[in-house]
Amino acid sequence: MSSCLNKILCRYFAKKTPTIDNNYQNNVQIYCNGEPKNCAIYMIFDKLGFLKVPVDLRPEQTAKAKSLIGN
Ligand code: SF4
Repeated sequence: MSSCLNKILCRYFAKKTPTIDNNYQNNVQIYCNGEPKNCAIYMIFDKLGFLKVPVDLRPEQTAKAKSLIGN
């Protein structure tokens, strides 16, 4: 368990995403305050940088993140 270092820049954490996400509270527990390295947004932050994070990407969309990264 750890707190994500990207919280200050993360649109999802700040609820500045274009769509309503009913899993927000769960995702914050699971990813932001749990295991950030399993988060799709974190993966993009880490490998491609903040500017490459799609505005509508959610933490559980790891397959999409891996596809964008090229894994
Ligand atoms: S775990 Fe993911 S959603 Fe949460 S603050 Fe970090 S990058 Fe954003």
